[in-house]
Amino acid sequence: MHKAIVMFSGGLDSVVAAHALKSQGLDVIALHFVLPFYAGVGIRPAQAEESAEALGVTLRVEEEGEEFLEMVRSPKFGYGKNANPCIDCRIHRVQKAARIAEETGAVCVATGEVAGQRPMSQKMHMLHRIEKAAGVKGKILRPLSAKLLPPTEVELAGIVDREKLFDISGRTRAVQLAYAKEHGLIHASPAGGCTLTNLETGARFADLMANNPLFSLIDFKLIAYGRHFRTSPKYRVIISRNSGENEIIEKLYASLQASSPSNVFQMYLRDAPGPLAIGLGEPSEDDLRFSAAATARFSKIRDMESVAVIISGNNFDNRVTNVRPAEESELDRYRVSSDKKVKTPLR
Ligand code: SF4
Repeated sequence: MHKAIVMFSGGLDSVVAAHALKSQGLDVIALHFVLPFYAGVGIRPAQAEESAEALGVTLRVEEEGEEFLEMVRSPKFGYGKNANPCIDCRIHRVQKAARIAEETGAVCVATGEVAGQRPMSQKMHMLHRIEKAAGVKGKILRPLSAKLLPPTEVELAGIVDREKLFDISGRTRAVQLAYAKEHGLIHASPAGGCTLTNLETGARFADLMANNPLFSLIDFKLIAYGRHFRTSPKYRVIISRNSGENEIIEKLYASLQASSPSNVFQMYLRDAPGPLAIGLGEPSEDDLRFSAAATARFSKIRDMESVAVIISGNNFDNRVTNVRPAEESELDRYRVSSDKKVKTPLR
């Protein structure tokens, strides 16, 4: 039985693509990419797992790391509206999928892409450009738009019957929905989308590029979590927004401590549950006071006159700082936000 790699989110398009190939007798490996933000922080790719299980195909999860970081730092084709380097990201993933296909002996890489469905990265000419740039011309099968595209190697070799594939283009999902209904397919509903397309994540990324251009993978992961404040080019503080983020930020803090202990410390309230904050860089005494005051501000005891905040790590020896919770105006002054113009080489 021939193997096929299908790039797989677990959403409607990739589920239909995987099913269409499985129905032709191919042994489908559903390849799911996990963005660096969600890798190694205890978040499961539940939607991909459920959809793959329902389809009865093997799921292979690839966590993005340093290679993704290199790509996102200087994308050849630039960024979309925010920090999303979609064209380079597609090229990077297609190349990675092609390497996995080679390793596993799969005859093709397939995707759930539909010509003309999304801006830029899925326009017809872009699909060709991505293939060419990735060095995989003729090897990427797009079952949903196959009949509108030149035949791929597996179609020419008769391994995949082109006539049984689709000729879908544009944004409507009517054909895919009807096919999913007919075959009883389970698919994930559209999620919130990639965090790199988010306006505020874009602002944090721009801040990182402008002030810490040699940022690490953990620095990059942190842009997806917490509230971010920068008091100087040398110092920023990130404060969790809820208990789920406390856990994630704690894990990322442990990794930062292991790699650059002199550059990071954490803060938390001594006498009440509350957020966890990570300070990064070289803080002044004023920076420490602000960070502690901001941490106190996001707790349930924000109305108290004085709150005790513990600073630990980076030789702070569990120092206790008593602060008045920060005012909104002070938070606004230092908040990393899309309202502020950060000089950045993003475009
Ligand atoms: S939206 Fe995000 S994951 Fe999707 S191609 Fe763009 S950068 Fe990559």
